[in-house]
Amino acid sequence: MTFCTNCGDVIDRSEWYSFAARRDGDGTLQTYAFCSEKCRSEYFDEPIAADN
Ligand SMILES: [Zn+2]
Repeated sequence: MTFCTNCGDVIDRSEWYSFAARRDGDGTLQTYAFCSEKCRSEYFDEPIAADN
């Protein structure tokens, strides 16, 4: 099971979901899954990326 990093909702990986990877302070690559671009934006406190 995959859960949204921001809101904890269960993510159905057979359908679209948002995925992100960031390096933490140690340089370790951390991966995150989100149920929506909104959750991703809220979690990272970043604007929703323009899709171009
Ligand atoms: Zn969410």
